[in-house]
Amino acid sequence: MTDLHRLSIRELSEGLAQAKFSSRELTQHYLNRIAKIDNQVQSYVTVTTEQALAQADAADALRQAGNATTLTGIPIAHKDIFCTQGIKTTAGSKILDNFISPYDATVVAKGKDAGLVTLGKVNMDEFAMGSTSESSYFGATKNPWALDRVPGGSSGGSAAVIAADLAPFATGTDTGGSIRQPASFCGLTGLKPTYGRVSRFGMIAYASSLDQGGPMARSAEDCAYLMNVMAGHDAKDSTSMEKSVDDYVANLDNTTLNGLRIGIPKQYFNVDGLSNDVKVRVEESLKKLEELGAILVEIDLNMTEAYVPTYYLIAPAEASSNLSRYDGVRYGYRCDEPKDILDLYKRSRSEGFGAEVQRRILIGTYALSAGYYDAYYVKAQKVRRLIQQDFLKAFESVDVIAAPSAPTTAYKIGADLTPVEMYLGDIYTIAVNLAGLPAINAPVGFDQDQLPVGLQLIGNYWSESQLLSIVHQYQQHTDFHTQRAAIAEENA
Ligand code: GLN
Repeated sequence: MTDLHRLSIRELSEGLAQAKFSSRELTQHYLNRIAKIDNQVQSYVTVTTEQALAQADAADALRQAGNATTLTGIPIAHKDIFCTQGIKTTAGSKILDNFISPYDATVVAKGKDAGLVTLGKVNMDEFAMGSTSESSYFGATKNPWALDRVPGGSSGGSAAVIAADLAPFATGTDTGGSIRQPASFCGLTGLKPTYGRVSRFGMIAYASSLDQGGPMARSAEDCAYLMNVMAGHDAKDSTSMEKSVDDYVANLDNTTLNGLRIGIPKQYFNVDGLSNDVKVRVEESLKKLEELGAILVEIDLNMTEAYVPTYYLIAPAEASSNLSRYDGVRYGYRCDEPKDILDLYKRSRSEGFGAEVQRRILIGTYALSAGYYDAYYVKAQKVRRLIQQDFLKAFESVDVIAAPSAPTTAYKIGADLTPVEMYLGDIYTIAVNLAGLPAINAPVGFDQDQLPVGLQLIGNYWSESQLLSIVHQYQQHTDFHTQRAAIAEENA
């Protein structure tokens, strides 16, 4: 079979159940594609061929025995930020180049319990800091829609594997847009859940009060299947919420677009640097939702100007604290022949971390230092609360809020944006993390260079089902999510 990679997750599940193909055939099919095509995309850091085939055989045996469940035997790629027992986990960094975790992240363990087959670990910006995946120690991943473009970041590898059909779905993480922006750049659907919905245990920390794992796939329906696996309380993550989990697949048709109130923040459509193509495609998608019954309501989000400075204080502050554990002593990279303990720390860290990570550690350490803590960190926390209140006020009059996911489509590789230019590109995504809200990206068309454009819908707390359902219904009436990059059409 040459076209297994074109099937949706539901079709894969049905095909396996009806014995149209085995998990081994399906897994081998993806491994063949990776062997043939990934040298162009460079999305995998590690391909776990042997383990994948063993897991596929185990899945087939389970099915033979009548014990298969919905996703038994379906392949997945994991962002290389999720710890995988026995397989290296790098977070895109030299400092973890040889790190093999002694345990699985909860998300990975849940995937195994559901019978998913791990194809491998995929590339990302170093420690998830970035918007292009170029800060990875392992080099830049290419955007399958245009190989001279970035796939976005930090979950750029996750987006690229799906867009090139090198995995049917993938895990991602989103601290300030890292699921939604690469999904937007690669024409995919990606959901950033409410903070606390998905366990962070075994997910390498960037900024702990913002980090959240979530699903990336072609459609909302595919994401719903993965969300059913990922979501849920975990005693090993004290910030994970003890709250019942929806059946996201069963709920896909449960939200009616008829009368749904979509807030359009005035401030968001006057942002400097918003590309006209993005603006027009997003407006068209909103018109489509209006045709399907939704009501568009103009709203105010007055704190918009504060998003970038607030996020770029809080995220680096938390990062500087989280990354202090990489000291060359316990695990990870260690410099050669240290003179003494200070030299060991200094050289291990300056040789092990890349430039962007070092920049964030410096900013964060400064913001947390005595004398500056109140002026920067504490103030940023207060503004963070105001940003959250701004959203909560908006949700008194609307059901969801619409925005672009990013002001532009995918950048050229090597565009060499200054840090500030890059940070400004996060304007539409980072406030959602500061407020802890869920949000989704849906593909809504292409710009004049045939690069995908994404619409973002932001929901109130715990509204993942609603967001998936809205996008699912939009996708029943549009075909942007089914369009494929030329490289995905190549057969292996
Ligand atoms: N681009 C943002 C940053 O660099 C967001 C990254 C993320 O969500 N991990 O911090």
